[in-house]
Amino acid sequence: SSRKPEAPQPRVLAFANQKGGVGKTTTAINLATALATNHKVLLLDLDPQGNASTGLGVAAQDRSAGSYALLVEGRPLGDLLRPTQVANLWILPADPDLAGAEIELVGLEDRERRLATALADGRDALAGFDYIFFDCPPSLGLITLNALVAADGVLVPLQTEFFALEGISQITRTIDRVRRAFNPRLRLEGIVLTMMDRRNNLSELVASDVRGFFKDKVFETAIPRNVRVSEAPSHGLPVLLYDFRSPGAQAYVKLAAEFLKRERARIRAS
Ligand code: ADP
Ligand code: MG
Repeated sequence: SSRKPEAPQPRVLAFANQKGGVGKTTTAINLATALATNHKVLLLDLDPQGNASTGLGVAAQDRSAGSYALLVEGRPLGDLLRPTQVANLWILPADPDLAGAEIELVGLEDRERRLATALADGRDALAGFDYIFFDCPPSLGLITLNALVAADGVLVPLQTEFFALEGISQITRTIDRVRRAFNPRLRLEGIVLTMMDRRNNLSELVASDVRGFFKDKVFETAIPRNVRVSEAPSHGLPVLLYDFRSPGAQAYVKLAAEFLKRERARIRAS
């Protein structure tokens, strides 16, 4: 008897940094959009603020069932996924109740593994997806912990500012702890420098410090500060659709190419 070959598993990456406003959501949305030109991508909005949902055009009143329903209520993933206006890019929006999840999760069984379990149970709905991205909230609480337990790797968006190195040591220590306690697969996949300002010496100085310390973990492509990037979410669009020629959009196109190059190198090495 011939058995169906195992479908390839999607790559699962968390966009995490306990600091808010560093470009997690922007990077998750735009890298996902760039990859969606030839991959099928799912973005899970795990931040109660729902910025990834808004930024992809899912209005607040349309978010009745999303990541809260998945994480806390245990609803099946397949019932909750939605297409976006970007072909090949799907989203699990953040429902308003997600704000309470951080506390409600504390009392639930297997509280750190709820997301990992939901993905495993949702295998059939995930068939055909190449990438699953988690847009994490700006904290290292239970929601982010669920993301790190369910992920293969972490992408850390890092704003080049004075306390950048302190901030990153907190997330790398957390990654190490989660690897030891829950998820031996987990690795720091890369650091993306965001909101770079080439006219600002401090920005350049911090960038070279971070590169000196984390070496090739840091993507060569840095994302410049660009007003088009900050305008795009209010139109419910990734900057790649809002203004493709803007320096911000072009940087994300470049980041996606570098990301895929690293993916190929990783697969060859494994
Ligand atoms: P986080 O998800 O880490 O909180 P966001 O991605 O929401 O961070 O970014 C924080 C704010 O900065 C948002 O208003 C966003 O539009 C803006 N922003 C992000 N990246 C850039 C950029 N490259 N240039 C200008 N503004 C940016
Ligand atoms: Mg965010």
